Amino acid sequence: YCAKRSSDHIMFYDKSMSDAAEHRLKLLNDLRHAMSLGQFSIYYQPIVQLKDNQLLGAEALLRWQKTSHELLEAADFVPLLEETGLIVTVGNWVLEQACQQAAHWRKMDYPEFTISVNVSPMQLEHLDFVKQVKMTLKNSGLPPQALALEITESALLNYPQQARKTLEKLHNMGLKVTIDDFGTGFSSLSRLGNMPIDGLKIDKEFAGQLENLRGRKLCHAIVQLSQALELSYVVEGIETEQQKVALQGMGEGKAQGFFFGYPLHPQQFALAHFQKHIA
Ligand code: C2E
Ligand code: MG
Ligand code: MG
Ligand code: MG
Repeated sequence: YCAKRSSDHIMFYDKSMSDAAEHRLKLLNDLRHAMSLGQFSIYYQPIVQLKDNQLLGAEALLRWQKTSHELLEAADFVPLLEETGLIVTVGNWVLEQACQQAAHWRKMDYPEFTISVNVSPMQLEHLDFVKQVKMTLKNSGLPPQALALEITESALLNYPQQARKTLEKLHNMGLKVTIDDFGTGFSSLSRLGNMPIDGLKIDKEFAGQLENLRGRKLCHAIVQLSQALELSYVVEGIETEQQKVALQGMGEGKAQGFFFGYPLHPQQFALAHFQKHIA
């Protein structure tokens, strides 16, 4: 009786597994053609100054218009881009597009605008990544201090030596290097003191805990850590006024999240966030 039940269970599991595998293969195949079909776009989400909500810049977030009615968010397909190595080509395209967009906005709308771009560990591994960044800055006319590159902790864990050297060069070029999703991969904490970085992006998990006392203390401790190391910080995932107010009590820093604005198509971003357009 028991055995039968468990074999039923296994059969059911097998069926759903093969469906999942098929779905994955289809998705991979579609993903390989997405670039040449022009289905990728970049959305921009505001990053603001906590004390007065002032717009500082935006993070570039990849989107995939898979079909006319399906717009996928990065979380749904970036892991696949990483797995297949496609992230290197797509990531370089994001960097170029985002730098051009930011240079344009600095000229037309917002002279102080800064842009943050996510960089995959695989891009960082490439020996000519630094050259690539230099070229992109030169071609777009964007000054290095207007560009921040976001690198996850895992990139530093997996390739500590290579990553260190590359980050050092980028940091010395005058652009900002930041650790993304900070606080979700503890183990690199010991290396933080001597990493050539400029700032932390504190993971949205911490913003989610701001409602309770221990969560607030935890977040405050991380803010103090970044202050002690003279690193800038952005708290990600702010969704409510209360969360914002709690953070304001912890010091002057930056924030990002749905409360300040959703990731938007560049035209919508300009309409929503640049004064000139609203008037
Ligand atoms: P991330 O760099 O930590 O980006 C923030 C993610 O949180 C985005 O998801 C954004 O839409 C979401 N988010 C922003 N505010 C809120 C909020 O208030 N609440 C909640 N619940 N979520 C919020 P998205 O666009 O799906 O991106 C997911 C991840 O994919 C990014 O995490 C980043 O690691 C990666 N990614 C996105 N674009 C690129 C890219 O161009 N290249 C690379 N290598 N990775 C990218
Ligand atoms: Mg990011
Ligand atoms: Mg993040
Ligand atoms: Mg993330």
